[in-house]
Amino acid sequence: MDFDQLAQFLADLGEPHFRARQVWEWMYKRYVSDFDAMSNLPKALRTKLADIATVAPLTLVTEVVSRDRDTFKALFQLPDGQTIEAVLMLYDERRTLCISSQAGCAMGCTFCATAQGGLARNLTPGEIVAQVLYFARYLADPALPPDTAAERPTTVTNIVLMGMGEPLHNYANVWKALRRLTDVDAFGLGARHITLSTVGLAPMIDRMADEGLQIGLAVSLHAPNDDLRTQLVPVNKGYPVDEVLAAVRRYVAKTNRRVTFEYALMAGINDAPELAHALAEKLHGILCHVNLIPLNPIPNSPFQPTSDEETEHFAQILRKAGIPTTVRLRRGIEINAGCGQLRRAASIAASQ
Ligand code: SF4
Repeated sequence: MDFDQLAQFLADLGEPHFRARQVWEWMYKRYVSDFDAMSNLPKALRTKLADIATVAPLTLVTEVVSRDRDTFKALFQLPDGQTIEAVLMLYDERRTLCISSQAGCAMGCTFCATAQGGLARNLTPGEIVAQVLYFARYLADPALPPDTAAERPTTVTNIVLMGMGEPLHNYANVWKALRRLTDVDAFGLGARHITLSTVGLAPMIDRMADEGLQIGLAVSLHAPNDDLRTQLVPVNKGYPVDEVLAAVRRYVAKTNRRVTFEYALMAGINDAPELAHALAEKLHGILCHVNLIPLNPIPNSPFQPTSDEETEHFAQILRKAGIPTTVRLRRGIEINAGCGQLRRAASIAASQ
């Protein structure tokens, strides 16, 4: 529910308007996970609300922590039994949370664990927001994580929509969630601290440019030409490279914001030096930055990560051509931190 829906819901129960503000603040400022903790609500109302509603719709199925304790991955069950993942990454000054926008995904990227089960359904705005509140609660707990220095941030500081699903394929619900996450009366995170990653649904990039929120845009390119990109990202058939890049150019012209291109490097597939040159040529003149991602390997998959040396060589070619390029730190390999991998491992374990 957004705030108006909550106010109407409580009004229908015969409650005065200020109750909505009280409940809202308990959820979004104090991160409580049950009505009983809302101590300024009458006990009878708390009991009634607990019977008919929930403020924490996610049930934790599995939570795993990397050996160095800086990557936390959670597999959640939704009320209808679907499962989704979210990953929290601890950096010195940042607490970055990668969240899901759909249960499963319809985009069918051939190297992706999530793609293998197809799309189950869109997440509701509440289910998207709930992933953030879960980890905000987790970070606010003084007992966790045990090795976090006291002066470091104790809430989520950055959000990336790079988990399961294609956020622009669940456009309306994702944007409702983004407005709530950035609303100063709700979660209140600055829009510039949020990045939405898309496989390149060109018309939706145009729509995003008109939203007026300073959310960052990342486009998963993974190949500079249509033949290769269609093999890796089948949606490229509908939105070929040049069409995606034209939408990005319009987006930059309208928002004046730098766009990130994500490129997952896969050994022998898309990491040849000539592809780096072709990529630099395609991106010439776009206000952008390239993020090279060493692939998180899926067990038994033909797609394996490029070596560190070849990754650096690919990066150097782009940099020499004037394209700002970084190599993303690989996180949590031993805990299946790549998109969809924990869910897949859980379903394989359940079927054995
Ligand atoms: S990489 Fe992203 S868009 Fe592609 S199938 Fe996986 S979740 Fe969907």
